[in-house]
Amino acid sequence: GKISTPLLTKEELGRSTWTLLHTVAAQMAILSRLYPCKECADHFKDVLKANPVQVGSQAELSQWLCHVHNVVNRSLGKRIFPCQRVNARWGKLDCADHSCDLQANSNLN
Ligand code: FAD
Repeated sequence: GKISTPLLTKEELGRSTWTLLHTVAAQMAILSRLYPCKECADHFKDVLKANPVQVGSQAELSQWLCHVHNVVNRSLGKRIFPCQRVNARWGKLDCADHSCDLQANSNLN
């Protein structure tokens, strides 16, 4: 039979990995070095060389990661994120008025 290959685009991989990294940075100081997009990893190596990781505190790590993400954003022609809002975006994962509750969906079981 056919072998089905799992499809993961560079965009999906990047979006998911940034989410992991920002969530980890907001909550504890762990960074992984493994990244399966070679072009991205090679570029990011240079970004890290120019911007050594700063982990003096959780706040410092979050600001550092926001900065290096912005370096990547700039190189890809993407918009720059305002780093003073990094905790609002990634910090407390608490949602007002149950807005993050899963919704009932009669089509899914
Ligand atoms: P993403 O950049 O994935 O961001 C996700 C969300 O994070 C955004 O919607 C926004 O809410 C928030 N955000 C954005 N910027 C910041 C910030 N500075 N601080 C905090 N939050 C922010 N792609 C390539 O084509 N070439 C590369 O060389 C490359 N290198 C990469 C290196 C690394 C380490 C990673 C993790 C990804 C790399 N990517 C690269 C993928 C690329 O950065 C994006 O993830 C991908 O293009 C999807 O972009 P996006 O617009 O969905 O937003």
